[in-house]
Amino acid sequence: MPFVFDWDGHIHSGFCPHGSGEPTRASIDRAIELGFRGVSIIEHYPLPPGFPEPPTSLPVGPGIAMVDPYLEETLALRDEYADRIEVRVGFEWDYLPGWEDWTIEQLERTGPQTQDGLLSVHFLKESIIDETAEIFIRSYMPLVDGILEKAYLDYYETVMASVKADLGQYKPQRLSHINLIRRSQVVFPAPGEFRNEIIEIVREAASRNMQLDLNMSGLRRQNCKEPFVPVWLIELIARNEIEIECVFGSDAHNVSNVGNGLKEAIEIVNRALPASESA
Ligand SMILES: [Zn+2]
Ligand SMILES: [Zn+2]
Repeated sequence: MPFVFDWDGHIHSGFCPHGSGEPTRASIDRAIELGFRGVSIIEHYPLPPGFPEPPTSLPVGPGIAMVDPYLEETLALRDEYADRIEVRVGFEWDYLPGWEDWTIEQLERTGPQTQDGLLSVHFLKESIIDETAEIFIRSYMPLVDGILEKAYLDYYETVMASVKADLGQYKPQRLSHINLIRRSQVVFPAPGEFRNEIIEIVREAASRNMQLDLNMSGLRRQNCKEPFVPVWLIELIARNEIEIECVFGSDAHNVSNVGNGLKEAIEIVNRALPASESA
């Protein structure tokens, strides 16, 4: 099976300023309770100094001063829990075109201490897209002349560039939420499914031995209501029509969301498979 369902590969920590602030150990305890064999504690890496401040009321990621305390605390938890659950520690890295040198420098600095990592596109043309529809319309849409199709194409081009980017030996190997551009698709219907663009990205990632974050968090977002990995793509992967490893990710920013969406992910896979092969 190309699906890893006994691991929650995308759990944020107590250090996340837009999370609940609950202690990381409570999320690990919850994962044990749910029967996971392992978890990846993943925190947003801070934005580079000088990067334009996103127009959001929430701080996007922890400041640079949090990096070392985060690593220290989370790696200590990793040791403490070693006999109960495997914990991997890492960061969710923003792919920021033009800021690659800084990103590589930070990856080199922290890479030796991490065991996992996610590669994300939350910004297009230095403008945040992982925000409310209102902020998206006001701050990003003018950059693509207000044309939604251009926004989607910009997104898929940027995700493809992230896959191809040379970010050095510590480049994160799992692609986060590959359809994040649809996060407000309920109020802002997508101009298409962009299957060809998405399939090309996934094939390129697979050819580089990268994985997909089977990120289900879109389902619980009011204006998204669908997994960030499109259902049709999960079905293609389940039927081996595209080969890539997918690691379940709840993208939990609080304890109660750990493992959230796993049941739905398994259901999608089982529906796509002949009865004899279900997950
Ligand atoms: Zn977050
Ligand atoms: Zn993310």
